[in-house]
Amino acid sequence: MREITVDKIAEKVKDLCIDAGYNLPADTVQALKDSREKEESPVGKQILSSLLENAEIAAQGEYPLCQDCGFAVYVVELGNDVHVTGGSLRDAIDEGTRRGYDEGYLRKSIVVHPVVGKNTGDNTPSIIHIISTKGDELVIHLAPKGGGSENMSRIKMMKPADGRDGIIDFVVEAVREAGPNPCPPIVVGVGIGGTFEHCAFLAKKALFRPLGRPAEDPWNAELEKELLERVNKLGIGPMGYGGSTTALAVHVESFGRHIASFPCAVNINCHSARHKTVEV
Ligand code: SF4
Repeated sequence: MREITVDKIAEKVKDLCIDAGYNLPADTVQALKDSREKEESPVGKQILSSLLENAEIAAQGEYPLCQDCGFAVYVVELGNDVHVTGGSLRDAIDEGTRRGYDEGYLRKSIVVHPVVGKNTGDNTPSIIHIISTKGDELVIHLAPKGGGSENMSRIKMMKPADGRDGIIDFVVEAVREAGPNPCPPIVVGVGIGGTFEHCAFLAKKALFRPLGRPAEDPWNAELEKELLERVNKLGIGPMGYGGSTTALAVHVESFGRHIASFPCAVNINCHSARHKTVEV
């Protein structure tokens, strides 16, 4: 059994929050550069250049990439031989979030209660999804999630007979309705199957995948290609000013489903597609 203290995890998470808040990951930067090459609209090209410049200024000056520093959403791979000492894993991650958002001057955006609450003042509680793994490794993935893009999420309990065409119609319509609101070019996470809540998690988890890496399942990978093409044909373009780059990538994750159910979820990320990983 490997013992890891709450404090050690909190320190790693603190650095992770600051890194994610300031430094756009290399895969997102590359995707923005690639799309600038292909973008057909001159205004679209100009906006993509501004987004890249914004990322450069944030990294050099150690400033947040966006004023919305997001809900701290974690996917944690927790080995069965890891023992957290001095508190729970939640204590550790929330403490790291608290330190990271405080020391990094990242905006605190979380309120205590959805209707009657005031700001918690430290960007906690975090959202934590735990995936149980074998061994003694603890790997923490963080994707701070802005409210503007999160608000464009959709879930639909479709009919099993809706099939592939039903998924395509639902996803394309969700992106069309979102329009400029999620700060395009976007990354589209799609979950298919499972239950209502697991499907939504799949759509979120899809956003943690390195940008543009195809799904392992060949059927899903094919669907990703078609969805990307269809979404980019909508012409929403960078920041909604029109153009051929509405999305940088579409990622699809799937899970088995009940014979009577066919859930499909869409979770959209903005151009500030922040996601970072640390091994503790
Ligand atoms: S959607 Fe993204 S880029 Fe737009 S305001 Fe929110 S965090 Fe910032």
